[in-house]
Amino acid sequence: EGIDLLVLSPGVPPQAILRQAERLTPGVTVHGELGLGLWLVQAGLSGWSSVPTVLITGTNGKSTVTALTGALLEAGGLRPFVGGNLGVPLCERLLQSVGVAAEPWVGSLVLECSSYQLETLPRVRTDVGMIINITPDHLDRYDSMEAYAATKARVFDGLAAGGLAVLDADDAWTPSLAPVGGSRVVRVGDPAAAAVVGEGGEQALVLSGQERYPRSSLRIAGGHNARNALFALLAARHLGVSVEGCLRGLAAFEGLPHRMVRVRELDGVEYYDDSKATNVASALAGLAGLERPFVLIAGGLSKGDDLQPLRDVLAARGRGLVVVGTSAEQFAAMGAGVVPVVCGGLMDDAVAKARALAKAGEAVVLAPACASFDQYKSYAQRGEMFTAAVLALE
Ligand code: ADP
Repeated sequence: EGIDLLVLSPGVPPQAILRQAERLTPGVTVHGELGLGLWLVQAGLSGWSSVPTVLITGTNGKSTVTALTGALLEAGGLRPFVGGNLGVPLCERLLQSVGVAAEPWVGSLVLECSSYQLETLPRVRTDVGMIINITPDHLDRYDSMEAYAATKARVFDGLAAGGLAVLDADDAWTPSLAPVGGSRVVRVGDPAAAAVVGEGGEQALVLSGQERYPRSSLRIAGGHNARNALFALLAARHLGVSVEGCLRGLAAFEGLPHRMVRVRELDGVEYYDDSKATNVASALAGLAGLERPFVLIAGGLSKGDDLQPLRDVLAARGRGLVVVGTSAEQFAAMGAGVVPVVCGGLMDDAVAKARALAKAGEAVVLAPACASFDQYKSYAQRGEMFTAAVLALE
């Protein structure tokens, strides 16, 4: 009661608190951490108020596209601050700059936005907004896919006149989410706009049907990552980075940890850490890029996704399933009758059981398709425990 500003933690579903706050303090300003940071930036607190701003959301690929866009802008001399839902929170970065005389100059903002952050994002001037894709996720928080998708579309709310909106041409949600009005809308996968063209060594990322970047200039594997790169390239080109700058940025990007990282090979079996696969669609994307048959370690804190697509991929290329976490039973039911299923305890045990199921020429993949919070502090800790367990195998 009587407060001026309410800042919500992203982990707190806002409806009940907002109702209560509105009742006690009608018209109270509400932000999340990212929204508060952007609000302060645009109010002129930091001296960055007129820098180009790129907002990135989507169900999967946000961090990769954010980091890659940052690499391209860096190569183009645009001095980006890269953060938001990834790495350093914007407010933390702002605090670092308070009272620092020789504050390093920030020339652009590249911000990953989770749907939770978008729920309370104020309308801020945006130069590029992106929705990489929309597939089922967080259905424990939202009443429907429509509600989840509508939250994602807030990424376009502050798009400047002449600003760029990027969406996926093949995503069923795109037609209803594309902004209308004075912005430019580009669809990744539309051959006239931005597409992956050709096969094998000839494959290229092509913008506007003519501007070609060899696929081999990008070091991260998989069709999903080629598409992610198109999003980043469109943003960088819109903000004036040269083709040469983009090529340098693509080559400089090494990928992020816990996204299909090959940990080691032992007895002919390759071990992959895809701990960041926290929903079914992301697990499928990582597995699609894998050429070997695999034993999957999956389960954790369920988000209510439909598991049938995982059953299909296990039927096609799976050799075994080790189920873990609070959704172990649900995952065991999914794999039953398709591949051998065993229950793993803590990570060491799960890795040992996966090893016992895998033969030379196959892979063991941690792609949980679930959040990590039932057993771990974060997906990163889960990936680190997997990596440690794999490296300890003799
Ligand atoms: P996010 O920040 O949205 O979680 P990341 O870039 O961290 O996205 O990737 C998370 C997981 O999603 C990884 O397991 C990765 O293999 C998968 N992934 C990355 N890009 C895509 C994409 N465009 N479509 C589907 N899955 C993807």
